[in-house]
Amino acid sequence: MCRSICLRQYNFFLNQAIIPLTNFETMPRSLQNNSHNSLLAATDSILSFIPFADFVEGSKLQPLLASFDEVASQPGLSPLQQKQYIIQREWLTQLTVPQLEIILYSRGFINPAAGESYITLLGGNQHPLGRGSVHVDSNDPLAPPLIAANYLNNPFGASINPSFDSTPNPPKLDTSVAVEFVRFATSLLNIDSLASVAQNVTHPASFEDADILSHVKATIAPGCHILGSASMAPYNIGGVVDSELKVYNTTNLRVVDASIIPIHVGAHVQSLVYVIAEKAADIIQASSY
Ligand SMILES: Cc1cc2nc3c(=O)[nH]c(=O)nc-3n(C[C@H](O)[C@H](O)[C@H](O)COP(=O)(O)OP(=O)(O)OC[C@H]3O[C@@H](n4cnc5c(N)ncnc54)[C@H](O)[C@@H]3O)c2cc1C
Repeated sequence: MCRSICLRQYNFFLNQAIIPLTNFETMPRSLQNNSHNSLLAATDSILSFIPFADFVEGSKLQPLLASFDEVASQPGLSPLQQKQYIIQREWLTQLTVPQLEIILYSRGFINPAAGESYITLLGGNQHPLGRGSVHVDSNDPLAPPLIAANYLNNPFGASINPSFDSTPNPPKLDTSVAVEFVRFATSLLNIDSLASVAQNVTHPASFEDADILSHVKATIAPGCHILGSASMAPYNIGGVVDSELKVYNTTNLRVVDASIIPIHVGAHVQSLVYVIAEKAADIIQASSY
């Protein structure tokens, strides 16, 4: 399918030599204007990664950091978690590292009706404070492991939205990121190009924190970038593989997949998995001579 679209696009440009193709922005825009069949029509491919400073009000950034510090200094964190939080805090203070992914998704999630077209603005927290776990539960290698995803298990950011603190059932989650995203996503609907195609918009019941939070809880879903269950990190802080991808205390067992990534990056991970595989090939080749 990609091949046929690419060929059609190529033919289109061959026949439209007068269109000035000065850069990669021009190409999809020209295609969209002329054929309505381009990257701009494939909303699932339209995404962006933005730092806090781009979607959280300036006055909320400091309380957000304070809230982070509170969680990151609580007792009982594993040594690996502590190291991760040091890195995450550095990213937060830089205010340039992507913390949120926004995807313009071409399906409806909340009671979609048959025969209607939908766009959903998805927001993905790239660096949550919450942590899950994966443990072997049986001697049977085919038995599924025990997985505790623990999505939304952290009160990160509760203090920047004080109403969270007064809810009878305090949220255990990376709530502020999600709630601020909902506000930001709603503001994007004022942009002409989105406003002109949106006939009905599904909002939270109101834009009070509590209602946004209910909306978040009702609609939140896990992403697909599962990683970290065999983290590359020093053994004494809980790492599973060393920098040569070898499992500690083994002589000939390597892990080459997304599980070795010890902390999420601000991007999709497939390309990183390719890099790990290429690196593994080099390592294995070098070690066999
Ligand atoms: C729905 C979805 C959408 C995604 N979209 C994107 C995206 O747009 N961009 C992006 O960068 N990333 C995306 N990802 C993430 C990306 O696909 C994964 O991060 C990546 O594939 C992980 O690679 P991996 O090698 O670690 O695991 P996998 O690709 O899952 O490979 C594991 C392999 O092991 C095999 N296997 C499992 N158990 C056994 C067994 N007992 N014996 C033998 N073989 C076994 C499986 O069949 C599989 O082939 C997406 C993931 C999902 C699920």
